[in-house]
Amino acid sequence: MMKDVIVIGGGAGGLAAAIEIHQAGKDVLLIEREEFLGGILNQCIHNGFGLEVFKEEYTGPEYANQFIDVFLQEKIDYLLDTTVIGLKKEGHIFTVETSNESQGIEFYQTQTVVVSTGSYERTRGQISIPGDRPYGVITAGSAQRYLNTDGLLVGKKVFILGSGDIGLIMARRMKLEGAEVLGVAEIMPHSNGLNRNIVQCLNDFDIPLYLSHTVTEIIADDHQRLSKIKVSKVDESFRVIKGSEKVFEVDTLLLSIGLIPDVTILDDLGVEIDKRTKSVKVNQAYETNIEGLFVCGNALQVHDLVDNVTLESKRAGQAVVRYLNKDKVKENHTLSLNPGTNLAYITPQRLDMGLEQENISLSFRSRKKMEKAVCKIYQNSQLIFEKKLFFVLPAEMETIQLPFKTIQDQGDLKVELEVKS
Ligand SMILES: Cc1cc2nc3c(=O)[nH]c(=O)nc-3n(C[C@H](O)[C@H](O)[C@H](O)COP(=O)(O)OP(=O)(O)OC[C@H]3O[C@@H](n4cnc5c(N)ncnc54)[C@H](O)[C@@H]3O)c2cc1C
Repeated sequence: MMKDVIVIGGGAGGLAAAIEIHQAGKDVLLIEREEFLGGILNQCIHNGFGLEVFKEEYTGPEYANQFIDVFLQEKIDYLLDTTVIGLKKEGHIFTVETSNESQGIEFYQTQTVVVSTGSYERTRGQISIPGDRPYGVITAGSAQRYLNTDGLLVGKKVFILGSGDIGLIMARRMKLEGAEVLGVAEIMPHSNGLNRNIVQCLNDFDIPLYLSHTVTEIIADDHQRLSKIKVSKVDESFRVIKGSEKVFEVDTLLLSIGLIPDVTILDDLGVEIDKRTKSVKVNQAYETNIEGLFVCGNALQVHDLVDNVTLESKRAGQAVVRYLNKDKVKENHTLSLNPGTNLAYITPQRLDMGLEQENISLSFRSRKKMEKAVCKIYQNSQLIFEKKLFFVLPAEMETIQLPFKTIQDQGDLKVELEVKS
């Protein structure tokens, strides 16, 4: 079957992109491996979603439903319970290989693919915590899914490693379900979660946050269940400070140690990777170095707010439409966009000067907490644009609009964060 566009992933990103493309009159097929549309939002039953896009506060499923309703009304083609297991390109045509329990393996062809496959959680193996290998050590997102979609509480005496938003939300959730939550340890000197989650999930529930601390040993009981953890303080170079060790008797350790964009289905395509985002490099149209292959949502960069996923994926959908309509105004020539002082990363990583537009959305994270921050953009060592941001945190992704007309035709760009003097 040949489609104009295949969207892979039916979370907030895939839904927004598919709706945008369909409403422009293109033929779209969305493929989702779960039984439901909505992605990670389905397990996020707390509120705090939608303040930017809807000026209202929704729960995750309520937010997802705003888009699922439109998606279904528009009668966009979709497949559920169907996993994309392969993606190849020959000439101008992509072949998408899918697996479904009742249909088996099937192949779909298209000229354009949007990958919006979300992200996955880092696990214990990625940070090498010493000690035993008992059960009771689980990622915070998995524990959330067990609790919120299957009704299963994974433990009663809980400690959380990592102060990312999932860990903070789960600290409150486990406490509300009757578990004892003994604390949250964070190796950085600052939290990695949104400030509102520190207040509403930890402070309001008297759950201690141990900054500059990490788990240094995991200890099992005779039944191979987690029984104790050791937590120690670290110095500025993240070295464990001897004698600072505390022992906590727990049956569960939840790991909230970061998300990684899931672009594993692109492994065979030779897509250019950015080691900072651990995802693909894109231009301002969210197109990779493989023509016709677009990436958006958490698959491109980990977002803390779903509203930003929606806005980015709508822009990606509009860019796909322009691509299909062959709206490119000039010959292809690209400039690179690089993160400078105080920036952890920036997207897009390339600007295609053939794609004239009014503004370019740039997203980035700071390396450290900064007050009175100014974002400055340089080209050929000249300042071409600046914007005051006041307060930036590594936990909060920033997005600014760079007017296209400020960019010169030649010379790579560098984006920096400075403190306003
Ligand atoms: C615990 C938690 C709490 C959060 N809290 C908030 C909050 O309070 N407020 C807020 O605004 N935001 C919050 N967020 C952020 C926001 O919810 C997410 O950034 C957003 O929903 C991600 O959307 P996505 O479409 O990029 O990814 P996902 O929702 O992960 O969707 C990706 C989809 O792709 C599918 N998929 C993956 N691989 C394949 C494949 N090979 N074949 C077919 N389908 C595939 C997956 O099944 C999934 O449905 C939270 C996120 C988490 C995890």
